[in-house]
Amino acid sequence: MQKKSVIIIGGGIGGLALAGMLGKAGYKVTVLEKNESVGGRARIFRQNGFTFDMGPSWYMMPDVFEHYFKILGEDIHSYYALKKLSPSYQITLKSDGKSYCFFSDMERNKALFDQVEPGAGNVLEVFLNQTKQQYEIAKHAFMYKNYDTVFDFFNWRVLTEGAKLPLFKKQRAIINKKFKSEILRKALQYQTVLLGTAPGDTPGIYSLMNYVDLVLGEWYPDGGIHAVPKALETIARKYGAEIRTNAPVAGIIIEEGSAKGVQLATDELLVADIVVSNADVAYTDLTLLPKAYQTKSEKYWNSRTLAPSAFILYLGVKGALPGIEHHNLLFTKDWEKGFGEIFATPTWPEDPSMYICMPSKTDRSVAPEGHENLFVLVPIAAGLTYTEDFAQEYANKVIAEIATYYNIPDLAGRIVVQRSYSVKDFMSDYNAFKGTALGLAHTLSQTAIFRPNNVHPKVKNLFYVGAGTNPGIGMPICLISAELAYKRIEGIPHPFPLERI
Ligand SMILES: Cc1cc2nc3c(=O)[nH]c(=O)nc-3n(C[C@H](O)[C@H](O)[C@H](O)COP(=O)(O)OP(=O)(O)OC[C@H]3O[C@@H](n4cnc5c(N)ncnc54)[C@H](O)[C@@H]3O)c2cc1C
Repeated sequence: MQKKSVIIIGGGIGGLALAGMLGKAGYKVTVLEKNESVGGRARIFRQNGFTFDMGPSWYMMPDVFEHYFKILGEDIHSYYALKKLSPSYQITLKSDGKSYCFFSDMERNKALFDQVEPGAGNVLEVFLNQTKQQYEIAKHAFMYKNYDTVFDFFNWRVLTEGAKLPLFKKQRAIINKKFKSEILRKALQYQTVLLGTAPGDTPGIYSLMNYVDLVLGEWYPDGGIHAVPKALETIARKYGAEIRTNAPVAGIIIEEGSAKGVQLATDELLVADIVVSNADVAYTDLTLLPKAYQTKSEKYWNSRTLAPSAFILYLGVKGALPGIEHHNLLFTKDWEKGFGEIFATPTWPEDPSMYICMPSKTDRSVAPEGHENLFVLVPIAAGLTYTEDFAQEYANKVIAEIATYYNIPDLAGRIVVQRSYSVKDFMSDYNAFKGTALGLAHTLSQTAIFRPNNVHPKVKNLFYVGAGTNPGIGMPICLISAELAYKRIEGIPHPFPLERI
């Protein structure tokens, strides 16, 4: 017997993953995506023989991806092959121009730590063993749990297991206490940017990211990160989901306090028993819901800590780039000033830190022969304004810095494809609130029970999935958000990962 019908607004990682789960469980699922392709922030574009992943490039927590496929009875390896990156990444410091490679290999990392700071290797090992424990506790007691009241959070299990997690200490303080040198401190703090926060504002519970990074390692799906949304789309369709692209939703229809369907921008009305929004929560609240059902005011959303936006360059470059690894981080000397420019006093970074990904180092399919594919990202504050001329000047500055620090004096002249992407594009492409690239930052007051819930507090049969709700930001985390939304809809109360759907 067919179960209820569900409309999912948005075909990002969370929306697609939920579509597969609900489809398998017998629901009639329709995904409505405003753009011409699904994948959301993890889309691609192609130009002159290059394939650019537009957003994510770090494939971390492979166990979480594997779990998603497993509970659906699918074999992840039949969808894409995974390669472990070695080195995981290279960090270059602007202060002295030196580069360091990091591996997901305890002995190699210990040797590097000892070389930089005698005795630091053992400190690292002890710390990573603690973060392993943290990761296991978080996975089994927190991440797959839906929260309803503060008592769900501060319950017996959390108080006993959670006591082992440094919830209230900040990541910067934890790391600075253990390590003294610039490179080791930065190498163990940069992960907070993946969560959209500064190390000084990130609760110590997220030290588990150090385990994810330095132990579980960085992986790469053959063909690029887009293999992930492609697999999720294939699975959703396999289980009967209808996926409509170029289908922007203009509003959620609510009758007598219950979601009844959506209205498309074309005025077409679609009815359903359940509506799930994968679009950003602030945008859904302020734009898609009738005023009477909005949970928070614009003032409230404006007061939230937003994860950074980004200034991104997609570059196709002629010839080899020998100094660049698959993942590269270039860190400014004045780290605190850099974070201040993103969070405290939003301004375009004068001396930016940046991230450069060259997937063509691992995968020749993403660039034409004799060329390299570069994705360059400078984290900037959400809501920053700019003109096209300014964006061009900033692009030139970023390219000049890459040329200097990676010793490629002729870089600018070798660029055959160049596209920039920033705040305005995030707003127009994804309806991202103030153009944030990632959503709500993972500060303590925006984590777990304090993050927007995946069930609407006033409207029946209205749910959320994706980075804006629990657990939060990142592809694997959005897969978990799909499992949490699935449990909500199916009324499954237990706080553990599912065994099977
Ligand atoms: C530049 C960048 C780099 C990142 N790097 C990494 C990384 O390396 N590793 C990692 O794991 N994560 C990374 N992330 C984060 C990760 O990509 C996101 O957390 C995740 O993809 C978000 O998925 P989501 O389910 O929240 O949906 P989203 O990707 O936010 O998709 C939501 C969808 O809803 C659609 N939508 C919005 N409004 C409407 C409407 N009215 N009607 C219909 N559709 C609508 C949007 O078009 C979009 O397709 C990165 C993100 C960005 C932007």
